[in-house]
Amino acid sequence: MKQVFVKSYGCQMNVYDAGRMADVLAPEGYAETSAMEEADLVVLNTCHIREKAAEKVYSELGRVRQVKHARAAQGRDTKVVVAGCVAQAEGREILRRAPVVDVVVGPQSYHRLPELIARAARERVVDTDFPAEDKFDHLPQASPERTRTRGIGAFLTIQEGCDKFCSFCVVPYTRGAEVSRPVAKILDEARRLAAAGVREVTVIGQNVNAYHGEGPDGVWPLSRLLAALAEIPGVARLRYTTSHPRDMSDDLIAAHRDLPALMPYLHLPVQAGSDRVLAAMNRKHTGDLYRRLVERVRAARPDIALSSDFIVGFPGETEADFEDTMRLVAEIGFASAFSFKYSPRPGTPAAELEGQVPEPVKVERLARLQELLETQRQAFNRGTVGRTVDVLLEKPGRHPGQLAGKSPYLQAVQIEGGAHRVGDVVPVRIARAGSNSLFGEPVAAVSAAAA
Ligand code: SAM
Ligand code: SF4
Repeated sequence: MKQVFVKSYGCQMNVYDAGRMADVLAPEGYAETSAMEEADLVVLNTCHIREKAAEKVYSELGRVRQVKHARAAQGRDTKVVVAGCVAQAEGREILRRAPVVDVVVGPQSYHRLPELIARAARERVVDTDFPAEDKFDHLPQASPERTRTRGIGAFLTIQEGCDKFCSFCVVPYTRGAEVSRPVAKILDEARRLAAAGVREVTVIGQNVNAYHGEGPDGVWPLSRLLAALAEIPGVARLRYTTSHPRDMSDDLIAAHRDLPALMPYLHLPVQAGSDRVLAAMNRKHTGDLYRRLVERVRAARPDIALSSDFIVGFPGETEADFEDTMRLVAEIGFASAFSFKYSPRPGTPAAELEGQVPEPVKVERLARLQELLETQRQAFNRGTVGRTVDVLLEKPGRHPGQLAGKSPYLQAVQIEGGAHRVGDVVPVRIARAGSNSLFGEPVAAVSAAAA
């Protein structure tokens, strides 16, 4: 049996794609390994969203080169694949910069990996097409055993690409136009996941709430898809990510009220609080539109945990603009968040704008924002202490006898296992909040106030 080592960077879409790449290679006789030194095939599934993410690939390729040479000295061949968004964006340039690479393949072509690897025996190969055929139709399903090894929660891509063209973002260029997968194929994949023991399905897409897939009776929005997914036996929990404020429709907001399987957690990136900056970002919403949206979501599901993405130091961002972001954060209160310094990306409109913000200013603003967000995260976690919440048990905990799982609000929770098992949903009274995990005791039944 040959061995493949797959390393993924960046978003959940890449985590999902990495799994599907392993699925496409399994029938070719490749078993997955976590040791690069053992691998006949090394796949780096890359991220291009910020400069730092993209540069990681080249430093990792330095390590791959050493491994490849060491294996060659023992008479063992190693093929090296660069996949994902750096592959799409840089294509042939990767072959020039990194002679160790045999195959460059974009996110829409990885179903062709077996063929590309075969060709790599003769030549170096680049495939960054957006092929007319749908890659999902050419990807084999993972066996139940393989699915089980990946855990109790699974990502399921339902939508790819983006038509929003935020001025800072490479996604519309690397992932292409927005495409929704048909309802029947998604439900089929979810049924297989559930049959293999998956209890939580997170449907994913670059703009997941823009989902509009072909259903048996016309086009379905995300809310309807979620309702159908909730009917699948074994699926205890549903989540979706990442959403755009402009696509947060009334029916989707209502689903947070009406669908018990839909967890009370929403990742809704706002990026900034200043309307001037939001306009320059081409976000097509204002700070107030976001505030009103949050009010409506909270009216539907008062306990919902909100999460967001922020960019500081966008070109032209003044101190007053940044204060607008701080004010919006202070007003809304987030349970968790991701925040980044603006990183100019080649080919995006914002990279050409005047008024690029100096690095020390970005560093200082990011530190202030992250301090506020961290305070809010800790406060949210402390707010669950004393409550009883359902915890989906995912894996053994840090110490013998402990189990680790997730609250409905996506918080990590550690419990003393007792008779419980991975995959169970257990009511847990939260006793204490640590810096990254909650700690609690299972209780007999969920109280009326529980989630
Ligand atoms: N589609 C999602 C949305 O609209 O919010 C986000 C997709 S992107 C993979 C994840 C996050 O990366 C964005 O929300 C944004 O905060 C951040 N990001 C994207 N481009 C960036 C850039 N050039 N510099 C810094 N952060 C960036
Ligand atoms: Fe990028 Fe904007 Fe599309 Fe999100 S909505 S993927 S930030 S262009």
